[in-house]
Amino acid sequence: MSLAAGAGSPPPLRPVSLPELRLLAAPRHWEVNQPIAGLESLTPVRGKLTAHHHSGVLEVEGEVDTIVTLRCDRCLNLFNHALRAEAHELLELAAAGVGSGPGPSRPLDPTELSPSGDDLDDRLDPEGDFDPERWLFEQLSLQLPLVNRCGAECPGPATWSSEEGSGDSRWAALRQLKES
Ligand SMILES: [Zn+2]
Repeated sequence: MSLAAGAGSPPPLRPVSLPELRLLAAPRHWEVNQPIAGLESLTPVRGKLTAHHHSGVLEVEGEVDTIVTLRCDRCLNLFNHALRAEAHELLELAAAGVGSGPGPSRPLDPTELSPSGDDLDDRLDPEGDFDPERWLFEQLSLQLPLVNRCGAECPGPATWSSEEGSGDSRWAALRQLKES
C-alpha cells in the first residue's frame, strides 16, 4: 500500500541551486510528468526541460504539454484546451540591486514573483536557485489564450435565454419594438 511514485515516473521538480548547476560539466536534464503549482490542469504536465549554466547566463530550454479546462468567454461553458509550451530562454545571472548581506540567501517572496510581473525572471541571483517548476508555470501561462472560445460549435451567449426565462416583460416589449 505504498503511495510512492510508481516506477517510471520522474521525481518531482525541485529548485536547484545555481552554484551547484555551475559545477556541473554538462547541462542538467529533467523529465517532467507532474502537476505544476499554480496551473490547474486536467492532466499532468509532461515533457522535458534542460538547464545549462554558462558564465553569466543560464540557458533554459523546455518542451511540455498538458490539458487545461477553460471557460468560454461567450457561452460560459467549460471546455478542454491542449496547452503546449516550447521555450528557449537565456536568464541573466546577476546579483539583484539589494545589498547582499552575509548569511544564506533569503527565501523568495512569492508575491514578488506574481505571474503578471515581468522582467523579474529574466534575471537570477547567481547564488540563488533556479526553480524549474516555476519556469514551466510561466511558459505555460504565456500560452494560455487571451480570449477563450470553446470552438466552432459555440452556442453563443447564454445570457439571452436566461433573460427570456426571467419573465421580465420589459425585455419582451423591447424585442417587439426592435422587430417592428
Ligand atoms: Zn462557447
